[in-house]
Amino acid sequence: PAEPTVAALQAGDVARLLPELSAETDKYRRGVVGVVAGSDRFPGAAVLTVGGALYGAAGYVRLAAPRRVIDLVLQRWPETVCSEARPGEAGRVQAWVVGPGMGTDEVARDRLAEVLASDVPVLVDADGLTLLGKYFGGRADRSAPTVLTPHAGECARLLGAERADVEARRLEHTRQLAERTGATVLLKGSTTLVADPAGAVRVNPTGTPWLGTAGTGDVLSGLIGSLLAAGLPALDAASVGAYLHGLAGRLAADDAPIAAHDVIDHLPAAWRSVG
Ligand code: AMP
Ligand code: MG
Repeated sequence: PAEPTVAALQAGDVARLLPELSAETDKYRRGVVGVVAGSDRFPGAAVLTVGGALYGAAGYVRLAAPRRVIDLVLQRWPETVCSEARPGEAGRVQAWVVGPGMGTDEVARDRLAEVLASDVPVLVDADGLTLLGKYFGGRADRSAPTVLTPHAGECARLLGAERADVEARRLEHTRQLAERTGATVLLKGSTTLVADPAGAVRVNPTGTPWLGTAGTGDVLSGLIGSLLAAGLPALDAASVGAYLHGLAGRLAADDAPIAAHDVIDHLPAAWRSVG
């Protein structure tokens, strides 16, 4: 049987959900987002995740990563406040993004454990999802909100399902993963679905097949983490992030072919067009 249809998010919904800036605000009140991404092997993932976070809604991006990753990120984004310290000692944040390119060894596992032990919202993506399956029984068990952003393969692995089954019944599997983990789950792909553990579901209408290029997922996780740090509830942060990311991808694709960093460059235009 066909899956039930879910109403798609509209530009008006997104505009209403975006945080408003008051005249009295400052970078801390806008929110600090912590990023745990990149490794000596995959340093570029941190550049893309930080880029998404800088063009989200937070006022401050803090990166906890190895030296080589920090050096590369600072070349592209001098705004980033970087630390080689472990995440738990890197300073206070209002939300964490953990996973892109961080690797799946025991050092990475310990970094993820520290982030999960925090009392703020956490978004787990990419290698973080692999670690969650490998060392944490696929569960987060946190009191603060958790957001998982798998593609179909990552979702299948966490559920112990076949990728083809996830692709065939995307909504069912998104809901199942949300229910099983107690997290808000964003399933990426040609359409992006978001389900929260209470059963609410949203579908994102923006996007383009040109987004199917390495690194775009890292941009998305930084962006959503930034919205979480700015105070958006998990379901809103995930769906607004997906909407803006898809729109930025479409705008960038006017000059296709595109690479992931082009999506970052078009985020301000995406904001303008919903504002
Ligand atoms: P990842 O799989 O982590 O690299 O993330 C890929 C990003 O590109 C996600 O935001 C996907 O939703 C998006 N994406 C990939 N393929 C397509 C497609 N065919 N149409 C629309 N968006 C896509
Ligand atoms: Mg990815």
